[in-house]
Amino acid sequence: MTTKDYIAREDRYGAHNYHPLPVVLEKGEGVFVWDVEGKKYYDFLSAYSAVNQGHCHPRLLKALTEQAGKLALTSRAFYNDKLGEWAEYMSNYFGYERMLPMNSGAEGVETALKLARKWGYKKKGIAREQAKIVVCNGNFHGRTISIVSMSSDPDAYNEYGPFTPGFVNIPYNDVVALEKALSDPDVAAFLTEPIQAEAGVFVPEDGFLKAARELCDQYNVLMIADEIQTGIARTGKMLAVDYEEVRPDILILGKAISGGMYPISCVLADDEVMLTIKPGEHGSTYGGNPIAAVVAMEALQIIKDEKLEENSTKMGELFRKEMSEFESPYIEEVRGKGLLNAITIRPNNGKEAWDVCLAMKEHGVIAKPTHGNIIRFTPPLTINETEMMDAISKIKKAIKEFE
Ligand SMILES: *Cc1c(COP(=O)(O)O)cnc(C)c1O
Repeated sequence: MTTKDYIAREDRYGAHNYHPLPVVLEKGEGVFVWDVEGKKYYDFLSAYSAVNQGHCHPRLLKALTEQAGKLALTSRAFYNDKLGEWAEYMSNYFGYERMLPMNSGAEGVETALKLARKWGYKKKGIAREQAKIVVCNGNFHGRTISIVSMSSDPDAYNEYGPFTPGFVNIPYNDVVALEKALSDPDVAAFLTEPIQAEAGVFVPEDGFLKAARELCDQYNVLMIADEIQTGIARTGKMLAVDYEEVRPDILILGKAISGGMYPISCVLADDEVMLTIKPGEHGSTYGGNPIAAVVAMEALQIIKDEKLEENSTKMGELFRKEMSEFESPYIEEVRGKGLLNAITIRPNNGKEAWDVCLAMKEHGVIAKPTHGNIIRFTPPLTINETEMMDAISKIKKAIKEFE
């Protein structure tokens, strides 16, 4: 079978809820993936930053397979011998009193929303059914009905209504609008991404997160950080909020806490918030399973052992420097933090970011446009300088072809 055959089969039998780049991958190792024709690529998407530790990391593979051969799933009807160890590990690693484990990022966000509402009723004293959660325009928090209810992107919400009430949208990076919204006594929480990644890697002004933290304290509102994509060293620090030394009340993690081996997400919070949910009031069949526990611990240990925060910072600086200095009429802006970067492309003769991605694919680098003419560049954090310089030269060649 050729690339065309694989694509035709998936098109014929699969739902059409994605528009993938026409490349069919069958193998991955570190920063590289190979397609079914044997062609090798730099992976500059890393499964939307789930594969920060690199493809098929041998330590993750070992953790996964050993645990899968011993005990995979018990459900939470019983204890397993790994969940407590993982919860303790997370508590020490991130400095929260408790963890609630789920699977997908969207489930992590839903969990945070539930916690915020419970806390709003039980601790803040908001009247029943009145709790509000403030969110930002341009957000991406997942795909459930409640989550798309707070989206400002018509592609995400059109014809999925009726929507979940109780969300208040404000502009991103707008402290004045935030203060006005939080002064409503029915507000239980402010949910934000420290950098809006899906929207196109929008980095707020320095001080925004700190100001948000202070306003949340002032108005007795929980600060929820969705670090599903920005977390786990993607932006050069373990968490993007670490840049402003901000500690959210609820921290949502996903994606790279498994290094791409397994769907794992979780929510971290202290007793006052976490213990508002009682037995039977929330759960997940797979959440907290022993495979997830050992894979997550190993994935997080790899970040420390391989010093991936430092590497993310260094390689990110190199990428932005090289691409900013590259003179091309088709590059509008280069922006980002650590290895979460984006380039906005100026269209030329009807050719757009999508065409740049097709050309990059031919040169051996795969990435994907997000929202029109923005291309996100997020290689695994394990990328070294030689690989980065090689990939950059391929990216430049692809952009040059527009001229
Ligand atoms: C990917 C992502 C989610 C959703 O995660 P899924 O695992 O796809 O459900 C939520 N928030 C952010 C910021 C994300 O990047």
